[in-house]
Amino acid sequence: MTSHPGAWVEIDLRALAHNVERIRHLVGPAVRIYAVCKGDGYGCGAGDVAETALKAGADALTVGDLADAAAIRARRINAPILLYGATDPASAAAVAELDLTATLHDVEGLQAFAGLGRPLEAFVKVDCGFGRLGFTPESWPHIFGQIRRAPALHLRGIYTHIGAVDDAASVSRQAALFRQAVREAEAAGFTGLELMASSSRVLLGYADLHLSAVNPGRMLMGMLEGPWAALAQVIPVVRAIKSRLIQVKTVRPDMRIGYGGSTPAAETIRAAIIPMGFAAGLPRVLHGHVLVRGARAPMVGLASMEHLMLDVTTIPGAAVGDEAVVLGRQGDDEITADELSRTTGLELLEIVPRLARGLHRVYLR
Ligand SMILES: *Cc1c(COP(=O)(O)O)cnc(C)c1O
Repeated sequence: MTSHPGAWVEIDLRALAHNVERIRHLVGPAVRIYAVCKGDGYGCGAGDVAETALKAGADALTVGDLADAAAIRARRINAPILLYGATDPASAAAVAELDLTATLHDVEGLQAFAGLGRPLEAFVKVDCGFGRLGFTPESWPHIFGQIRRAPALHLRGIYTHIGAVDDAASVSRQAALFRQAVREAEAAGFTGLELMASSSRVLLGYADLHLSAVNPGRMLMGMLEGPWAALAQVIPVVRAIKSRLIQVKTVRPDMRIGYGGSTPAAETIRAAIIPMGFAAGLPRVLHGHVLVRGARAPMVGLASMEHLMLDVTTIPGAAVGDEAVVLGRQGDDEITADELSRTTGLELLEIVPRLARGLHRVYLR
């Protein structure tokens, strides 16, 4: 981290705490909240996201890989951490070393964890129709028995990831299958299991699926879109993505801006350059605006690896050192995450964490 980064992300941990409180309000005091910290906390730092979420009332954490789990444990956080995937046999020892709750989602992983020679807490992940990780229904009668016979495996819960959340009939089919999985587990002798099927939009739209625990990610981070955002009443944790003008100059009509020469300037313009390009996660082709001095500067040319060019012709005072807002407020104007999503053609959940991930982080506490 340098003291004068070319671009940075402002991460609002107070918003994160608010979002946890909002989730608590919706699920009530008895339902456990597993705060999703995967993808390095959606690009905001797994350790900071975990710490803030726990302080605000989350009960446990989830991660998608061992690196994020290690970053959280390095903060001396002892809360339960459920590892979603990564149950490849080779990583079984590391999972136990970090005191994680493993996910059993296939027979190979199950056998690797069972044969580890040390006790391990685990959840079973069942696939009720999403088609990603998880045991499919045909295997349920068999696998719960197999876990029962593995003395090292302490089964603590069952979870699933529900898809097609806008389709109530589909959600209800998936929920019925989940209940069938729970019955299979009970038939094999398991009781008192944590039951979890609510990611953010399930949590918001289907209160009967809160069960014993929920695991919201995008709601925690304030990264919901469309009608779900209005329902959730959460605040974006990525509050701003900013850079600075590092050169401002006149570009004559016979010059071309950037690679490909795809955008010959029709007339003389004032161009400004910011040190943020596709290496920082911006798509090469984009047609949006960046705020400079509270006004909208159109992007011009293709983004290059480390730079993006802006047209500041209509912002007369624009000068080197001016703050350039790629996401967030400046003056009376704002580039919202929804706008950035439209500009880049990427889903909000894809573009915001992707830009946040590589940047210098400024935390607002
Ligand atoms: C990412 C993830 C979630 C959280 O989903 P959101 O829609 O972001 O709330 C829940 N469960 C699993 C298995 C996930 O991978």
